[in-house]
Amino acid sequence: MTSVLVINSGSSSFKYQLIEMDAETTLARGLVERIGTDEAHIVHHDVTDSGEEETHEQTRAIRNHTEGFAAMLDFFAEHGPSLTEHPPVAVGHRVVHGGARFFEPTVVTNLVKINIQDLSELAPLHNPANVEGITAAQESFPDVPHVVVFDTAFHQTLPPKAYTYALDAATAERYRVRKYGFHGTSHKFVSEEAARFLERDVADLNQIVLHLGNGASMTAVRGGKSVETSMGLTPLEGLVMGTRTGDIDPAVAFHLHRRADMGVAELDDLFNKKSGIYGLSGHRDMRDLTESANRGDTASRNALDVYVHRLKQYLGGYFFQLGHVDTVIFTAGIGENSAEVRAETLDGLQNYGIELDAARNERRGDGIRVISTDESSVTVLVVPTNEELEIARQTLSVI
Ligand code: AMP
Repeated sequence: MTSVLVINSGSSSFKYQLIEMDAETTLARGLVERIGTDEAHIVHHDVTDSGEEETHEQTRAIRNHTEGFAAMLDFFAEHGPSLTEHPPVAVGHRVVHGGARFFEPTVVTNLVKINIQDLSELAPLHNPANVEGITAAQESFPDVPHVVVFDTAFHQTLPPKAYTYALDAATAERYRVRKYGFHGTSHKFVSEEAARFLERDVADLNQIVLHLGNGASMTAVRGGKSVETSMGLTPLEGLVMGTRTGDIDPAVAFHLHRRADMGVAELDDLFNKKSGIYGLSGHRDMRDLTESANRGDTASRNALDVYVHRLKQYLGGYFFQLGHVDTVIFTAGIGENSAEVRAETLDGLQNYGIELDAARNERRGDGIRVISTDESSVTVLVVPTNEELEIARQTLSVI
């Protein structure tokens, strides 16, 4: 049996998952959070042979990521699964920003870590935390290769005409300003899973993927390669999200700076954390928003309308960019679970060959499913994403 440990580190937390790669099943997963405090918290789920999850948790002082990994190892030792019986052959790390430098999973060396750190100017909150997590994990697992998998990598196939902003070229080059795109691991995973499900070669398919979670992005995938995507230099661009504006006239920032005396930090906070459906309605969770909209709350209805309007806008754009579309795929928390958002987004598109089957769309399920009618020329699917599994697959592919 071959196992891979997948790590996703933030500045004060990390998530982990131990995956057995022959059957691609999760053996354990967990979260260490509030690192750097006396009240750090660890939750560890180990999955029993019958598929049940047993949960163990503890609150204790954890000063840094290194201590966090030691705590994780304690939980594995105490509650299982045994890392002696399931030793990971490699550790795969999610890294947010690979800039234009990293376009594939990469085995970690000191130079690779320096390069990731160097890209921190593009992802100041994420990349330093990712490097800290890698270093701490290397101390805990010194004898196996560590591999980094970048959120941006899948979008490195974007052609220049798609990734170039019409900004002064010298400024753009000097400061590495261009579209990078994010959620790449998820877009790659679900587009390949859909092809496998349909028993088609991904190289023959034109697909549009809607990754709708708290963060949201859309990608046009031609022959398995990303050719256009909605997020940009940062994850702020594109679709309306839980708390992010998505597309907005950049001059709004100048206006608020001049008129409301807002500085960079305040604007960053406003656009990234206080806007989106939350800023419009007070609800950041799609379940609460739809419930409130259906109860007749005007602000919630408006927020949902704005959300769906933007989705349609991008969907239409990507249709024209691809010319011909075989599949439209919904994934992530909202995409997988909200029949209402899916129905509203695809409403009235019969003339474009998209016909949702209302009963299939409403039916709940865990796996991949087709939700279009048999007559629909575009196949619409719900494909559950699994970024950890994709990171584990890519990790194994390079060691
Ligand atoms: P993610 O970032 O992929 O975990 O997705 C989080 C988003 O999924 C939140 O906005 C949740 O409200 C949304 N979500 C989760 N379950 C449901 C559901 N059953 N119906 C609608 N939205 C859901």
